Amino acid sequence: MAEKFKKILIANRGEIALRIIRTAREMGIKTVAIYSTADRESLHVRFADEAVCIGPPSSAESYLSIPKIMAAVEITNADAVHPGYGFLSENADFAEICTEYGVKFIGPKPEHIRQMGDKITAKDTMIKANVPVVPGDGELLKSVEDGLKQAAVMGYPVMIKATAGGGGKGMRMVPAAEEFQRAWDSARAEAKAAFGNDGMYMEKYITQPRHIEIQILSDGKGHTVHLGDRDCSVQRRNQKIIEEAPAPNIPQKQRDKIAKRCIQACNDIGYEGAGTFEFLYQNGEFYFIEMNTRIQVEHPVSEMITGIDLIKEQLRVAAGQKLSMTQEQIQVKGHAIECRINAEDSKTFIPSPGKITKFHSPGGLGVRWDSHIYTDYVVPPYYDSMIGKLITYGETREVAIAKMRHALDELVIGGIKTNVDLQKSIMADENFAAGGANIHYLEKKLGIGGH
Ligand code: ADP
Repeated sequence: MAEKFKKILIANRGEIALRIIRTAREMGIKTVAIYSTADRESLHVRFADEAVCIGPPSSAESYLSIPKIMAAVEITNADAVHPGYGFLSENADFAEICTEYGVKFIGPKPEHIRQMGDKITAKDTMIKANVPVVPGDGELLKSVEDGLKQAAVMGYPVMIKATAGGGGKGMRMVPAAEEFQRAWDSARAEAKAAFGNDGMYMEKYITQPRHIEIQILSDGKGHTVHLGDRDCSVQRRNQKIIEEAPAPNIPQKQRDKIAKRCIQACNDIGYEGAGTFEFLYQNGEFYFIEMNTRIQVEHPVSEMITGIDLIKEQLRVAAGQKLSMTQEQIQVKGHAIECRINAEDSKTFIPSPGKITKFHSPGGLGVRWDSHIYTDYVVPPYYDSMIGKLITYGETREVAIAKMRHALDELVIGGIKTNVDLQKSIMADENFAAGGANIHYLEKKLGIGGH
């Protein structure tokens, strides 16, 4: 018997909350928005069937407050919670509490969030599924001496990483032995402060990689499919700025092989829901770095090239249904690009919150605008600076870029600073046009970073 949720609570804000509401509406599922006092005038509050104010602007007292969110679930009688991305989306304790309350957490089981959230355990799981990982023995380093010994065998440069790491924290590249102690101390202190866990491990530093990831979907009953790959190499300080699908210039055979291994890894553990395997890719080799156990910001590019609504599939499998397709039915067609539009200065990257005095969204065939902004909307200073995602789709990469150029020209956001000019300059850049730039491309173009 097909099952369906009656009402879901969305434990998030901004464009992703809106994105989830849109699919839920299409499926006839009622939605509950939660919001902080800073988001009173937000579109997700207006578009949801019900909305509950859960606290003051600070995330710790609102979107990250598990007791307040559970109280909102209780009073609205929601039967499931969609965590979106960021905030509590990879918090295994939250997933566990939802389960204890008899509310379905739309995502993987808590033990799988934990397993993949710990990088050493995640790496170990991948090795067992024959997924290639970054060289390094994946053991906790016992001491500086232990680290120095390992690094001497591996050869510099090396990367020391916190096993609990996330958001680029607790990670240091070490170019030579003389620098080891300093990198070790600062990475450990950062990891301790951010995660309360200063366990470190070591990997070979991959010098000129691209960031390639594989999108998967699992039904929790041993059926997993992949929706192809994405290239997210256009980054600044490990923050993605542009994503595209499929990743350019990778032999089809190699894509299929790595995707198959990811599917194997999911089936081995009985994974449920959407997930992403992230890899560094250099000289034709893939190296696993981490798995994200949630929907990602860049999921629309995979939706555009496959025609599959990832949120809909998340809602289906969480409700106990089967995936609506087999691998053979998934056809990758055309090319999609996503530009993240941030409320920040195009040159200094300083956030630019405030009132949007003028707004016009681009349109036309193959142009998608996922955003919560409107004229007179005030971008609050408390959260992430991303205010929208502009996605274009074309039969080839060249067409997708051409569409992105004119879509960026049509986009008007007045009153605040945005990174639209930076996006325009990348779309006009011949190195980007060639496809396959590595993760240092943007910083090099901007004249920052030492690579
Ligand atoms: P986090 O979970 O903190 O985001 P990741 O393991 O995903 O950490 O790594 C973030 C980024 O750091 C990668 O996209 C890549 O740019 C860089 N990185 C991580 N590991 C290595 C490595 N072994 N060699 C080179 N760069 C790396």
